Amino acid sequence: MDKIKMTTPLVEMDGDEMTRILWQMIKDELILPFVDLKSEYYDLGLLHRNETGDQVTVDAANANKKYGVAVKCATITPNRQRMEEYPQLTEMWKSPNGTIRSILDGTVFRAPILVDCIRPVVKTWEKPITIARHAYGDVYKSVDFFTDEPGEAFLTFRGVSGKEHTVSVQKVDGPAVWQGAHNTDKSIRSFAHACFQYAIDTKQDLWFSTKDTISKVYDGHFKAVFEEVFEDYKAKFEDLDIEYFYTLIDDAVARVIRSQGGYIWACKNYDGDVMSDMVSTAFGSLAMMTSVLVSPDGHFEYEAAHGTVTRHYYRYLEGEETSTNPIATIFAWSGGLRKRGELDGIDALVKFGDALEQASLQTINDGIMTKDLVGLVEPGFSAKGVTSKVFIQEIRSRLEKLLA
Ligand code: NAP
Ligand code: MG
Repeated sequence: MDKIKMTTPLVEMDGDEMTRILWQMIKDELILPFVDLKSEYYDLGLLHRNETGDQVTVDAANANKKYGVAVKCATITPNRQRMEEYPQLTEMWKSPNGTIRSILDGTVFRAPILVDCIRPVVKTWEKPITIARHAYGDVYKSVDFFTDEPGEAFLTFRGVSGKEHTVSVQKVDGPAVWQGAHNTDKSIRSFAHACFQYAIDTKQDLWFSTKDTISKVYDGHFKAVFEEVFEDYKAKFEDLDIEYFYTLIDDAVARVIRSQGGYIWACKNYDGDVMSDMVSTAFGSLAMMTSVLVSPDGHFEYEAAHGTVTRHYYRYLEGEETSTNPIATIFAWSGGLRKRGELDGIDALVKFGDALEQASLQTINDGIMTKDLVGLVEPGFSAKGVTSKVFIQEIRSRLEKLLA
């Protein structure tokens, strides 16, 4: 079989620990035998980030902007414990995901990967629910403090022009807690663009929810910006027969539980944080989840939602063949290659992405899976736990048949 040719490089961001091991296995078994891979490789492994003063992360993000599509392996975000584990680190480097996100100015879309033998806890859910989480501001970039006497707090904004705007927050007759939060019009706007663009890209309805009945100006602005930005996309939505609708977060929660799935639910930062954990847990596991960062200029970065699976890595270093689930990382590759194919008009690459996903799901539905999934399988289905290596080989044999 001739290998599939590519025209534009895919930006490849390698990572750390167990996922770095899986990365190589996936490339060797599932990508390189079938695709004449054209990639621009960036090693975001912790030690290489350290050697380059983290420049490699910035370069990788800029390459993502240049070429449009990247695939990223999970990476270590160093904390104090990692500083002891890797004494050569010259700095507690920032989260690569944070750095990349701020350069691309993106929104993260996460969707569960469904298989027949694992049913969501919510019986009505038939199709994936994608959460689009705004990743800037609100309580995540707020200030707060505690006061221990009666008094009054004010909120003051001082413009560069010198103009001031002050409101009383509250008068209290005893100890109290206070918080000041913000968001920027620019960030809300780019969040809205990313959501509408992604809905068009995936041909799914878009829901957006806030609490604008209570937070009239703050959440009201989110609602108004979405309404305004939607005007740019309305015609395209009509063409595709998809819908945008806004509702209160309380109503959204009730509708989500009663729904069949198959739409994008855009959430403010905190709502998205909490709801994505709820939705992913109800669907199964983090290792069965796709995650893609989409920028308002239409750049894409595909990744796994989970971390570097440190515990498995240390067992691997002791010589054990681990049973780490590679599905999310495989789907990062399939998503990236398919998008590259779509952008470059290479149909074979689009079909390859689809086939790779189909072969992966078939393997699980045939009862062959990594150990984390065995316990989730419905009665009546067979479930045999195998090592990552065997699992990937089983996917390869199904992929070969699909492509033959
Ligand atoms: P983690 O790597 O997601 O793993 C937590 C636990 O979840 C694992 O010990 C394992 O449980 C289970 N698990 C996660 N992914 C799995 C998979 N693919 N297959 C099987 N089991 C899986 O989270 P963490 O241990 O909190 O973080 C480890 C490192 O990852 C940290 O240094 C963190 O900075 C980094 N991280 C990176 C990203 C990213 O780059 N996107 C995201 C999150 C965390 P058992 O051990 O019980 O089997
Ligand atoms: Mg969370």
